[in-house]
Amino acid sequence: LMVGVLWWRQSSKPLEPLQWRGPGTTAHISEIVLGRCFSYMQEVQSELRDQDCQKIWNVFKNAFLTKNPCNITEEDYQPLVKLANQTLPCNKTLLWSRTNALAHQYTKVQQEIFTLEDTLLGSMADGLVWCGDAGTTEMNYQSCPNWKTDCRSNPVSVFWNTVSKKFAEAACGVVHVMLNGSISKAFDQNSVFGSVEILNLHPARVHSLQAWVMHDIGGVSRDSCSGSSISDLRSILSKKNIMFTCQDDYSVRTPM
Ligand code: NAD
Repeated sequence: LMVGVLWWRQSSKPLEPLQWRGPGTTAHISEIVLGRCFSYMQEVQSELRDQDCQKIWNVFKNAFLTKNPCNITEEDYQPLVKLANQTLPCNKTLLWSRTNALAHQYTKVQQEIFTLEDTLLGSMADGLVWCGDAGTTEMNYQSCPNWKTDCRSNPVSVFWNTVSKKFAEAACGVVHVMLNGSISKAFDQNSVFGSVEILNLHPARVHSLQAWVMHDIGGVSRDSCSGSSISDLRSILSKKNIMFTCQDDYSVRTPM
């Protein structure tokens, strides 16, 4: 019986509790990321055309696999960012905050305008979740850290902070941002736009930031260009010596 108990204890895996409070790695992530990469290379004219998607995905995975998913740093993503480096034209950058759907509907029609999700890395990762764990080469499909309740330094948050920072650093000319005036704070200093992107715009290269504060049609307007959150944005940019203009409900609608 003793031998039996010992054998059972060694061979049966303990039932693993849900480790993190966020959803786990997106099912079929490799296929999704590779598929998106191949599509991007097919559809988009860029210097990345000859890049090898499998290599990019391997370097992407190396950033977070076998690592504690609460201990990821921007350094971990540097090889990826270097490999997938892309130059974008001046005057064609669109940043956004709390306007995900509208901003991307707009760039889908205005194909010469780029959001981060219209770049290779942004398009590969948009909407996905990924994490690994120290001591295993596998992804964790069970759970990943929730950025609010588990930790900030998780693979997904650090990825977006890293690529958002790069994207803003590289922007030049007139930069646009689409903000949401149907919520109480169109500009939120805690958002990625407010805490990463504006801080990394280069005054020597960025002529001005032009904000579009959008409102749901028929909905209430909770904030606008004349509201206090936009004043905060205006003063942050004035300290950085970047010109600022703001327009309520810029007409982004296009004939269907
Ligand atoms: P937002 O609040 O609308 O956030 C955009 C998305 O990112 C939301 O799904 C939000 O839940 C998520 N998010 C925000 N901060 C996060 C974090 N620290 N960890 C994990 N997820 C987070 O607007 P925002 O915060 O200003 O970010 C939008 C801007 O930053 C855009 O200009 C874009 O370039 C970039 N960005 C894009 C994504 C993306 O998922 N495509 C995520 C973060 C940032």
